Amino acid sequence: MDWQNLPGSNNVEDRRGGGGGIPGGGVAVGGGAALIIALLGWFFGIDTSSITGGGSQTQTQTQSRAPSQTQRQSQSGTTQNGTASGDQNSQFVSKILGSTDQVWSAVFQKNNRSYQPPHLVLYSGQTTSACGQADSAVGPFYCPSDQKVYLDTDFFAQMRQQLGGGGDFAQAYVIAHEVGHHVQNLLGISDQVDRAQRSARTEAAANKFSVGLELQADCFAGVWGKQSSAQTNLSQQDVQTAINTATAIGDDALQKASRGYVVPDSFTHGTSQQRVNWFMQGFNSGDPGKCDTFNGALSQ
Ligand SMILES: [Zn+2]
Repeated sequence: MDWQNLPGSNNVEDRRGGGGGIPGGGVAVGGGAALIIALLGWFFGIDTSSITGGGSQTQTQTQSRAPSQTQRQSQSGTTQNGTASGDQNSQFVSKILGSTDQVWSAVFQKNNRSYQPPHLVLYSGQTTSACGQADSAVGPFYCPSDQKVYLDTDFFAQMRQQLGGGGDFAQAYVIAHEVGHHVQNLLGISDQVDRAQRSARTEAAANKFSVGLELQADCFAGVWGKQSSAQTNLSQQDVQTAINTATAIGDDALQKASRGYVVPDSFTHGTSQQRVNWFMQGFNSGDPGKCDTFNGALSQ
């Protein structure tokens, strides 16, 4: 995947400490199983609750904070990610974000709407968002209240080590998935889901809408992947890295990994196979109109 020639975005806020003097709290190296599982569990997880639930995410984030801080302390002093790779991270993120701006601006324009690009906050350790405190145990998420994507750069290392092996396009998929939530926010889909969930009679029915929201973000990520594929010189191997990641973060895979650990209620992202299928549906069609993961249930 060639990402260097993509248009960069100026909407990346780098909140990492003072230009790289502080080593990022490399979360994963030698980490305890509980922490890894917490990370697995929270990967992509918080964005659902921040979209669909008012205040619950603050509480759940707090729960996951304790192990990560312990972990971070035990890691301090290691220099797993030097400044150079940190700078490359911010460059990479800016390019991918800029490319999603380009793709979604064109899609919106075609439908006579204007696209407001999201901001992306790069942080290390912890930071604040309009959806509450964010820290590295949360995983990447989108906060609809401030329309920003939050990304701890250590997460990319985490992906390489635990979540399907990483790779440029897999990392780009993570960003594009979060941007997919921004698109849902702009289109009013998040609000519709919110309403539908509140009127759902059972928790299972409500969860179905959460799954739909997540799978649609995967599908939208696929749409971006397709529409930028000529510019990025995308190979089949690149696509496979995103498939590996989607497989690693399906609910069934996560629950298997978290055996013996309390699974949060917000584990509602779809199975590995569903995530792969919807990502590929977006990727093969390049058409967001083919991303009705709600099966028409939202159209009323
Ligand atoms: Zn998500």
